[in-house]
Amino acid sequence: MKIHNFSAGPCILPQSVLLKASEAVMDLDNSGLSLIEISHRSKAFVDIMENARALALELLGLEGKGYKALFLQGGASTQFLMVALNLLEKRAGYLNSGTWADKAIKEAKIYDDIYEVGSSKDANYNYIPKGYDIPSDYDYFHCTSNNTIFGTQIKTFPNSPIPMVCDMSSDIFSRTLDFSKFDLIYAGAQKNMGPAGATLVVIKEDILGKVSRKIPSMMDYKKHIASGSMFNTPPVFAVYTSMLTLEWLKGLGGISAIEKENEKKARLMYSEIDLNPLFKGFATKEDRSSMNATFTLENENLKETFETMLKEAGINGLNGHRSVGGYRASMYNALPLDSVKVLVEVMSELESKA
Ligand SMILES: *Cc1c(COP(=O)(O)O)cnc(C)c1O
Repeated sequence: MKIHNFSAGPCILPQSVLLKASEAVMDLDNSGLSLIEISHRSKAFVDIMENARALALELLGLEGKGYKALFLQGGASTQFLMVALNLLEKRAGYLNSGTWADKAIKEAKIYDDIYEVGSSKDANYNYIPKGYDIPSDYDYFHCTSNNTIFGTQIKTFPNSPIPMVCDMSSDIFSRTLDFSKFDLIYAGAQKNMGPAGATLVVIKEDILGKVSRKIPSMMDYKKHIASGSMFNTPPVFAVYTSMLTLEWLKGLGGISAIEKENEKKARLMYSEIDLNPLFKGFATKEDRSSMNATFTLENENLKETFETMLKEAGINGLNGHRSVGGYRASMYNALPLDSVKVLVEVMSELESKA
């Protein structure tokens, strides 16, 4: 049976990417060697790394604009502290729009003072704070573009007077944005790009080198840039598979092409949530994420029936995060519109049974 994979992360990847990646594990480009048993200093792998880095900048429209792309390890969670170590001298402003943003704040606080420019913690993060000011004498402003757990997404980014840092883990490459508004973007690969193990970091080089502290080598963006993202052994499989996904995306027509698909999926999903009286959306309408739709089933008595129906339809990964409850449909780039159609059919069938 075909499984419709709505998992929040790690999550669905294009079938063609999985096939190519699995072939490369056995034999990389007819070399007679596995991708994961060759030296990361071999020409074959250096080419893969360079291609992945170049594709990331190309798709984001940041080529030739002073940016560098890196594939690092330690997940987005390591970026919470790396950002602070490399950029925080006196004070930074953070937008507290969800659990991940809150964690980023906690890590940065280890190093220096953090000011929350806005927070939606009071309403269990069901909206994006707006109308806040970003002090111009701070070191940087940090925000989270898509709140994976709560299903909210920043639609309009502020014009920041200071470097803008953004955790785009769960919506990078999903929608067109003026990415040159950002000075540092990071994203764990496992939500829209590849397997867990690699983190994409895109940095405008001229924001670095301004803090007075000593930075340990592995935490130092400058060292990673100087070594071409090969300061130590990179996560070769995760980088290769990410490269394949970026090639797949480019082949489809890039971010603007996938954005149209993502909009169709989100429209279909949210119209069912709004029209079906059995379900209720969690996030404030204007801030709804096109990647993660969070909703609850109003009548607890129907829970078992609904979950049996989901299982029978081959729907996987729909459980909400424990801090929200209910359900979460994650509709990342690789999720076909057909999978959303199947889910919506199950939801409307439940309505006709109730
Ligand atoms: C999943 C996620 C993280 C955590 O990523 P790790 O790679 O597991 O550290 C951070 N931020 C956002 C927005 C996420 O969705």
